[in-house]
Amino acid sequence: MIRQCGVAVLSVILGLMVPHPAKAQSKASGEAIDWRTVPIVDAHFHLMLFMTPEDLLARMDRHKISTVISGGAIGSPQAGGPNLRDTNTHAKLGPRFIPAVGNGDLVAAERIEGPGMYSDPGSREAAAALARIREFLGRQPRVIAETFPNAERSQKDPMMRRRVPVDGPVFQELMRLSAATQRPVLMHMEWHPESVQQLSRLLEQHPDGMVTLAHCGKTTRAADIRAFLQRHRNVVCDLAFRSWPQEEPDYKRFPERTIFWSAGPTWKAWLDPQWKALIEDYPDRFMAAIDDTHDWAQYDEVVRSIREGLLAQLSPPTMAKVAHENARRIFRLPQP
Ligand SMILES: [Zn+2]
Repeated sequence: MIRQCGVAVLSVILGLMVPHPAKAQSKASGEAIDWRTVPIVDAHFHLMLFMTPEDLLARMDRHKISTVISGGAIGSPQAGGPNLRDTNTHAKLGPRFIPAVGNGDLVAAERIEGPGMYSDPGSREAAAALARIREFLGRQPRVIAETFPNAERSQKDPMMRRRVPVDGPVFQELMRLSAATQRPVLMHMEWHPESVQQLSRLLEQHPDGMVTLAHCGKTTRAADIRAFLQRHRNVVCDLAFRSWPQEEPDYKRFPERTIFWSAGPTWKAWLDPQWKALIEDYPDRFMAAIDDTHDWAQYDEVVRSIREGLLAQLSPPTMAKVAHENARRIFRLPQP
C-alpha cells in the first residue's frame, strides 16, 4: 500500500522529468478497436446546472459517447428538480439519455428527518421517497439515481458527510427494486470497514439485485476491490471520478483515489498497474463514466483522461467491455 502510494507521489514530483510507465499505451492502435474512437457509454453522469440537453448532445457526438446513464441531474428552484431535468433531457435526447430517479427524493427526505431515516423502518419520509422511486422506475427506461450511504469525507454538502447503514431498510427496499426491475443500485460508498461489511450482507441477502459501486468505492485500493469482486458476483464498478483533472485538487491528501490520468506536456498517460491487472482479471465488472464536472472544458478533459489514461492502457477486448459493452449488458441497452 505504502509503496504504491509512494510510486504515485514520486511520479507526480518527478512528472516533469520522468515519463510514467505506459506499457500498453499504443497497443490498441492499429487493432480493429481503437481507443480513440471506440464508442463510450457513460455509466454515471450528472446533468449539471451549466448544461443544457442540446450542449450535452453536441458533446456526446464530438466525443463518440453513444449513451449517457444519469446518476441524477443537479436541480435548482430555477432550473427544476432532478427528476424533471432528467425527464426533459430524455425527451430531447431519446434513448441516448437514460434518466434516473431518486437523487432529489432521498436527499430531500433526509433534510426533513435526518440520517435516522436510513435505519428507521417506520420512517415516513423514506417510505414516501421510495414510493416515488418505485413509481418512476415502472416507466422504463429509468435507472436508480446515485445514493450516498457513506460520503463522510467526499461530499461538499455537509449533510451528506455521514455514514448510514447500507443494509438498513432503505437499501433493502432499493435492492428489492433492483431485483424487480433488473437495474443496479448506484452507491457512493467510501470503503469504511463497517460499510463494507454491511454491503456484503446486503449483496448476499439480495442475490438477484445488483450494486454499482460509484467511483469503485472512492477510497479503495485495487486489492480491496479484488477481494470484494471475488466474494460477490452481483457487484460492479464504475470508474468515474478516479482520474485527473477531477481528483487533482485532492491528490495530496488522498493519493489512493487517483488511478489514472491522461498525457500532459511532459508526462505520459498512466493507469495504476494494480488497477490495470484487476480490470484485466475482471473485465466484465468495470465501466467508464464521467460523473460531475464544473464546466465543459473539464468535461472534455475527463473524456480525454478516460480514453488516454484508461481505455488506451487496456487490451482491446477489455477496452471494448469497459468502454461500452458492460454498460450495455448491465443497463439492458439495445446493441448498436
Ligand atoms: Zn456521481
